[in-house]
Amino acid sequence: MISRRDLHELLSHPPDSESPVLSLYLDVDQQQAVNLNRGFESVLKSMIRRVEHGLGHNSRLKEFLGDARLVSRFVSDYQPVGKSLVLFCDASRGFTWHRSLNVALDSSVHWMPRAYVRPVVEARDEFERCGVILTDRGRARLFTVYLGSIEEHHEAFAEADVKKVDAIGMDQILSQKNFQRKADEHVRWHLKKVVEMADRLVEARRFGRLILGGAHEVTAELKNLLSERLKKCLVGSVTLPIDAGTVDILSETVALEEAVEREEEEVLVRRLVTAAAKEAQGVVGLPKVLEALNLGRVRRVVYSDGFDASGFECRECGGLFESYSENCRDCNGLQIESQDLLNAGIARILREGGEVEQLKSTAAVSFLEKAGGIGAFLRF
Ligand SMILES: [Zn+2]
Repeated sequence: MISRRDLHELLSHPPDSESPVLSLYLDVDQQQAVNLNRGFESVLKSMIRRVEHGLGHNSRLKEFLGDARLVSRFVSDYQPVGKSLVLFCDASRGFTWHRSLNVALDSSVHWMPRAYVRPVVEARDEFERCGVILTDRGRARLFTVYLGSIEEHHEAFAEADVKKVDAIGMDQILSQKNFQRKADEHVRWHLKKVVEMADRLVEARRFGRLILGGAHEVTAELKNLLSERLKKCLVGSVTLPIDAGTVDILSETVALEEAVEREEEEVLVRRLVTAAAKEAQGVVGLPKVLEALNLGRVRRVVYSDGFDASGFECRECGGLFESYSENCRDCNGLQIESQDLLNAGIARILREGGEVEQLKSTAAVSFLEKAGGIGAFLRF
């Protein structure tokens, strides 16, 4: 798991073209045949060789090789956990940082003035923290799902036996009605308890999305009992038995989250383009986004999957520019090349407490492409 605090820590070091950071994303998923017998080590080797060849006779080659040796040593001792290894290192200042993630990320190596955080930031956007309440008429289980991992929090088995009485004679109808009423009361009591627990969980874990699981009649009743805070998080429900395995709960949750994310993207991109057209705290197109970024105005950047732009970054003020000028237009400072302007922009936005939204929905992407593939909601 990679928290916002982790990202702040990673990005706290100013970009340094004299001492670049090696960023590694490595698919180590043991479910993939290619990764058995430590196949990921050969993948790492060939990625490192590619960067090395790219550097040619560059004077910094020696430094790259120092970073590469550190990474190779780490990976040769690494016991794979989850699906991906994320590692940042700079041997010259004795810096290494790593996490194992349960999210599949494409393998890649980057060597640039700052940590290449874009893939983890995009994964965090895709897999927003989600709460799951799985319940039947008498039992409940609570989960949170984040970055491909599921965690079970609580079990709440009501003591009351609330099973329906199916076969019953006419003379028993009165007492059966009475019994059913009592049973329904118990169900309601149970569901209210479940809501109380879920309220405590959202307070503790701060999930932004909620999914209800169970038979339709129960989730429908639970929905009516939710607090306002939980209602705001609710994104849908799935039909699952109370004793479902965590693998099934996880896959149902992730599938629903993906569908929700795609729908939200389409709404978001339309709002953005409208805001930009009305000049109401919204801009589209790279030049305008950079201008807003350099003024610290970006609240949320929105861009199409695969958006790519290189440019220059001021070493002094962090200003980002598409074209080179000897001195920064804002502070007269020296500029360094930025192979990925968006990575540098994301670093700045996160430091300033803003948000990042990568679009994957085909409809949303093609809509934003017409406006330059990138835009931003502004603070002021
Ligand atoms: Zn500057």
